[in-house]
Amino acid sequence: MAIRKILTYPEKSLLQPSVKVESIDEDIKNLTEDMGETMFDAPGVGLAAPQVGVNKRVIVYDSNAGNPDSDESVKEFTALINPEIIDSSGSIVSEKEGCLSVVDYTSDVKRYENVTIKALDIEGNQLEFDAQGILAIIMQHEIDHLDGILFIDRISVLKRTIYKKKMAKIKDNH
Ligand SMILES: [Zn+2]
Repeated sequence: MAIRKILTYPEKSLLQPSVKVESIDEDIKNLTEDMGETMFDAPGVGLAAPQVGVNKRVIVYDSNAGNPDSDESVKEFTALINPEIIDSSGSIVSEKEGCLSVVDYTSDVKRYENVTIKALDIEGNQLEFDAQGILAIIMQHEIDHLDGILFIDRISVLKRTIYKKKMAKIKDNH
């Protein structure tokens, strides 16, 4: 296992759609292990493959996310291959949503409150499950990454323009 570099906006791999995984081979298994380690090191609660420069439909998330009874000292992640949202309902504001690839910025983002996810697990088994609240937000945020969408694409044009100007300024000063 190794910690990989987390790429930040406007890196190209973050802005393009990712391809489906055709077979869950050793490379994919290693990728998910590295992504789990990278996510906990950051630290974060979710990570998508394009964030480490791999444009494949793979995400990992903190298995304890959204579970108030979880043992915080046990760090476990779940990997999903080719995840899709097949149903959604309700509406929730994800307060101060942030992203490991969007530095120094958070914003409120409108999300679905409930989503139904279809995916493969790391063994290739077909899964289908419902996610609510924080877990639903993580699913929408990470699956967006697989389509080249960042949370700053889901906020107002004005807020986004301010963020992009700020980033351009930082770039110019380097
Ligand atoms: Zn993100």
